[in-house]
Amino acid sequence: MGKIKFLDGAETIGGTKILLEISGKRFFLDFGLNYKERDLYFEEYLNPRPSNGIGDLYFLGLLPKMKGIYRKDLVKFIRKEGVEELGTGEEMPKVNGVLLSHAHFDHSGYIAFLRSDIPIYTSNITVALMKAMEDVSITKFETSVFRFIRRPAVNSFKDPSYYGTHHAKIVKGETDIDGVSLTACPVDHSVPGAMGFIIKGEEGTIVYTGDLRLHGERRLDTEQFIQKARDAGPDILIIEGTNLRGSKKREFWTEKRVFEEAGRVINKTKGLVLVDFSIRNVYRFLTFFELAKLSGRKFAISLKDAYLLDAMKDIGMPVPSLSHPNIYFYLEKRKTGTYRDKDYSEKWIKRIMKKLDKSKIVTAKEIRENESAFMLVLRYFNFQQLIDLRPGDGSVYIHSTSEAFTEEQQIDERRMDHWLEHFGLYPRVHIHASGHAKKDDLFYIASEINPKIIVPVHTEHPEEYVEQFGNKVKIVKNGDEINF
Ligand SMILES: [Zn+2]
Ligand SMILES: [Zn+2]
Repeated sequence: MGKIKFLDGAETIGGTKILLEISGKRFFLDFGLNYKERDLYFEEYLNPRPSNGIGDLYFLGLLPKMKGIYRKDLVKFIRKEGVEELGTGEEMPKVNGVLLSHAHFDHSGYIAFLRSDIPIYTSNITVALMKAMEDVSITKFETSVFRFIRRPAVNSFKDPSYYGTHHAKIVKGETDIDGVSLTACPVDHSVPGAMGFIIKGEEGTIVYTGDLRLHGERRLDTEQFIQKARDAGPDILIIEGTNLRGSKKREFWTEKRVFEEAGRVINKTKGLVLVDFSIRNVYRFLTFFELAKLSGRKFAISLKDAYLLDAMKDIGMPVPSLSHPNIYFYLEKRKTGTYRDKDYSEKWIKRIMKKLDKSKIVTAKEIRENESAFMLVLRYFNFQQLIDLRPGDGSVYIHSTSEAFTEEQQIDERRMDHWLEHFGLYPRVHIHASGHAKKDDLFYIASEINPKIIVPVHTEHPEEYVEQFGNKVKIVKNGDEINF
């Protein structure tokens, strides 16, 4: 008998962790960080302690209780507290792999805690993006997958045993994993490399959409996935439902509409144009890159974004290279705050600096003195830069990610608005096209794929599917199981 257990993320947007048992094998469909649950206990300065291994998350119930799946170095901590239920870490791995749909932390984050001998099956783009992101950030306890610190961190960081890594296996099209047939299909989402999966075993066929949309630039990918999924004659479709509510209230924008609306705003702007979006959202990048050119502005990005852009170019994404004459690089104050060469000595910075034309590196002062000549990509989590930039009258801030949260972090909107008010940038202009399909498109996807059973996940409103598809829909809560 096959079984699907919804460990987490059934009733929330993100945090997806699904266990699929098929042909005697076990796979996770994503193993994400659930921001909503996490935020019940933690916030900016109140975080799970790496010095307690898996302990903080275990005792707060933020990780599924399953033996044989967690890193041995982390499990050790709760064994010392007398907890035996997660095993010793010496057991054989209890799952054959993680099928990772895409590189958003709400799907990938908590892979960090899994045993590193459990392979991650995903796209080459997802791996490249995750690695590039880890290169440019300090190693994070909760989300570092390809470069995690072994606990307790007693060795020096120069010691090779200090770091560990998970292993990715690239999948594309149809493959056999331990006797289970997996078809990995590209789908369109707000991060490149996203995939939907068709899994075929002795007991039946399961389709998992991951996050996807039909109104984006790569809708053909999604269409092809739908076609393949339909042809497979699936028994169960596990489908996302982020936008089941809300699309009624708000008009649904395409990338073209974002281009037009943002273009209008930028044309009216006399001062500095600040834009906030994830650099990995390739088509959003192209939208603003193009708008910068059209408005005669230099397009300035941070060194981190330059690093990610370079990684995306390397794996064949349709982005301009760092040597494009209209791409500039915004140099932030670091360490001494005096822009000395030595302040930029981290490995990743050195690596990217070598690739940059030095004449295109600009500081806050240079932008301040020539505001109308620039469009600067500035993310909320880097708002301290506003203090150095001090944008003048007639400047604008365009917020071009989802309203309340990103798929990577929670944003405190009140705090964001305080910053903007203080620097005369309030109200923010919100211009965005969702990475997730609208309600009608979700219904279209489900009816086209035409499974025997529809299971909504990644949603707060699964009942909307019931209204449309009746008793074909099985609503699940975290912890529920479906046999097939
Ligand atoms: Zn998601
Ligand atoms: Zn996503």
